[in-house]
Amino acid sequence: MRLARVQRALAALGIDALIAGPSADYRWLTGLEPPLPTRLTLAVVPAVGETVIVTPLFEAPTATPLAVATWQDGEDPTLLVAEALVRSRPMTVAVSDRTWARYLVALQDLLPEVRFVSAAEVLEPLRACKEPAELASLRRAGAAVDATLARLADLRWEGRSERDVAREISELMLACGHDAIHDVIVGSGSQGALPHASPSDRVIVAGDAIVVDIGGEVDGYASDVTRMVVVGEPGDRYRLVHDAVARAHAAGRAAAQVGAATGDVDAAARAVLVAAGLGDAFTHRLGHGIGLDTHESPYLAPGATTALQEGMAFSIEPGAYLAGRFGVRIEDIYLMSADGPEPVTRAPHAAIVVR
Ligand code: ZN
Ligand code: ZN
Ligand code: ZN
Repeated sequence: MRLARVQRALAALGIDALIAGPSADYRWLTGLEPPLPTRLTLAVVPAVGETVIVTPLFEAPTATPLAVATWQDGEDPTLLVAEALVRSRPMTVAVSDRTWARYLVALQDLLPEVRFVSAAEVLEPLRACKEPAELASLRRAGAAVDATLARLADLRWEGRSERDVAREISELMLACGHDAIHDVIVGSGSQGALPHASPSDRVIVAGDAIVVDIGGEVDGYASDVTRMVVVGEPGDRYRLVHDAVARAHAAGRAAAQVGAATGDVDAAARAVLVAAGLGDAFTHRLGHGIGLDTHESPYLAPGATTALQEGMAFSIEPGAYLAGRFGVRIEDIYLMSADGPEPVTRAPHAAIVVR
């Protein structure tokens, strides 16, 4: 039971209660997925005692074993939250990241003696290690991505705008088993040198190298993959950069073993790009955890000290970005097992050659 684990973690950290507004944290804690409202909805989890959901009456969940305290327009819902909190006589309350600031500020006014701290320390380690059902959802998300990638070569690329191709890829992702789309990056030519470029009106031409980074969700769990698409024959410079990024990916994957520090995994991949003269072209961290959120703990970043544990799910996504020319990124999601990282996507790392 997740709430019991949270309560043990709270007690161990000397925190008296935790509050979370609608978000992945909230969903992970309660199993509920309310709309993302401007009206107050908060889960109040005391270190000892009963969890309470404070929520508008007309949005109150009907099928939950948790206690529900409802409010109606015209009332001040922060009073209800304060009431739920004071039962645990709190000195310290942890606040989930995506809790509206206005409600936190109101609670600080109502409970001036309480110290509010980030809930990340409590929830990140718990959410980072996935349960078997969560791993199964991440595998299904990976399968939906593989099915999508297998069809990219069938699309027409040359002569179409990035935006136009991105729209077709979104439809393909849904047809291939995604429940929703989060992000589709189609970065062609110089646009690909911007790691998070959103699809533009740039028209794809022969010779373009295109960064295709797509993510959606299956059962609420995120998919995320990046492959390179090349229109026609890639040039020599492209081949060299692609090869270096692919070798960096392989080095990161080899270093990703149970007990390895995430910063060391980043360093193993980065060393390959540095040796290839592309150290300055790799402008971001190697990867991120993934689950209910696309980007969550653990982060595979320079200097990060989190040790990889069985059940963690994370991306490995080295890249090299040559300003004004092109970018290359190769990304897969891995599930950490005792036998090493299990890829949820199986598509080869070679560039997908299209017309
Ligand atoms: Zn990203
Ligand atoms: Zn990613
Ligand atoms: Zn991605």
